[in-house]
Amino acid sequence: MTYQAVIGLEIHLQVESKTKLFSLASTQFGSPPNSQIAPLDMAFPGAMPSVNKRVVKAAIKMANSLNMDLSDVLTFDRKNYFYSDLAKGYQLTQYFNPLGRKGRIAISSSEEEKIIQVTRLHLEEDTAKQVHVDDKTLIDFNRAGMGLIEIVTAPDFTSGTEAAQFVKLIQKLALKLKVSSGKMQEGALRVDVNVSLKQKGSAQQGVIVEIKNLNSFRHIAKAVDAEVKRQKTLLKSGQKVYAETRRYDEINNVTVFMRRKEKKDDYRYFPDTNIAPIKISEDFITKTLSEDEKRGDPLVQYVLTEQQKEVLVRSPYLKALFIKLADEGLSVDLVANFLIGNLQATLKKEGVNKLQKIEDDIVALLHLYEADKISSKQLTIFYEQLVANKSLKDIYNSDDDGLIQSAEQLVILIDEVLLECEEAVTAYRRGKKKSLNYILGQIYRKSNNKVDPLMTKQLLLKKMEE
Ligand code: ADP
Ligand code: MG
Repeated sequence: MTYQAVIGLEIHLQVESKTKLFSLASTQFGSPPNSQIAPLDMAFPGAMPSVNKRVVKAAIKMANSLNMDLSDVLTFDRKNYFYSDLAKGYQLTQYFNPLGRKGRIAISSSEEEKIIQVTRLHLEEDTAKQVHVDDKTLIDFNRAGMGLIEIVTAPDFTSGTEAAQFVKLIQKLALKLKVSSGKMQEGALRVDVNVSLKQKGSAQQGVIVEIKNLNSFRHIAKAVDAEVKRQKTLLKSGQKVYAETRRYDEINNVTVFMRRKEKKDDYRYFPDTNIAPIKISEDFITKTLSEDEKRGDPLVQYVLTEQQKEVLVRSPYLKALFIKLADEGLSVDLVANFLIGNLQATLKKEGVNKLQKIEDDIVALLHLYEADKISSKQLTIFYEQLVANKSLKDIYNSDDDGLIQSAEQLVILIDEVLLECEEAVTAYRRGKKKSLNYILGQIYRKSNNKVDPLMTKQLLLKKMEE
């Protein structure tokens, strides 16, 4: 029997902000225990939360960089449980309506790029930190209420190395966007991995084992591989894998049992009514995302309209492609408009993966247009064909697809078409101006869209006046 590893990640990022997510207590690292606490963090009766805007902005930036759909309203829910590190008896999180959904991002694994689906990104508050000394447990509330971003992926990884690659990418993005220090050793980036095995080719999923709190990239890769090995051994000898939580023992390079997961925990989630829903306007998102721009973002150097900028800022993929094409010397306006008019729609419908696949052909197509080798109409049609999985080689033949450049040639073509649609010509001359569009359409068709629309219209009008 051949088994296949199925791996998913849950990542927590501690957000860099001077104050906590819902209180004004400081978040300074390394301060004496229990020196940074507001009444709210200790659940004093009557203390009310107020949302830290900076943390929300950080989450928006992070979600955007993972190409996620952003929620237009911010809400928080209570995750209820009793534990010594949670004074309130519930953790504020975003269960019903996460800030980001449906993200996708490429990691470069050993051979090729691989797209990972990011299921959700939400904000939540951190719990207090427990320190075990001999037979006692000490609690430090400095950490309680600090803002966390949780990122949950689909189970799209097949090896420990791939999972570690993704976490590296998250760290890189977090640093670039100044969202988090990303320091694993300080607990600013914490990773849980879910590992299961399934029979190759089968749709039946295996039992999921969770490995908690991995604190380096190397440990992520090694812990996953050790766990895959353990499960394989069990299954091959006819034994069962149980749903449980384990930790990684780096000295012996094995995962160690912590606790069984008998059944799903029931946290009785419900909306928190101390925080009323907050609208996240498009304007707020745009402003948030363009903050980075002001700090030396490359888009600044191009002359773009506000609307063009907005779209490019919202999509990391389109932005990168825009910069690449503009730097290749293509006209800024042409590229911006084409990306916004055509690629944005494809991106929404089919995702970034699709565009990445046909990107080379799109670039070639734009160069053909800029060099006057194809008409604007051809540009649109050919692009649609690329999206429909044809390659540029199949649809454009450089020998016979050139634009009809000479007026003489065009006039011959127009004369031919006018003979063929006499009725429309008569109608036009009697005052039915719309007929002109019909005739233009016939010219496009006869030429296989190889005419310049503006020049054709001018020549046609001249003919009609004759
Ligand atoms: P839960 O509600 O129990 O947390 P989710 O569906 O939200 O379950 O998944 C939590 C984590 O488990 C995600 O990281 C996801 O990728 C991972 N996961 C889901 N199915 C599998 C599987 N078959 N094998 C390994 N990991 C999985
Ligand atoms: Mg979970």
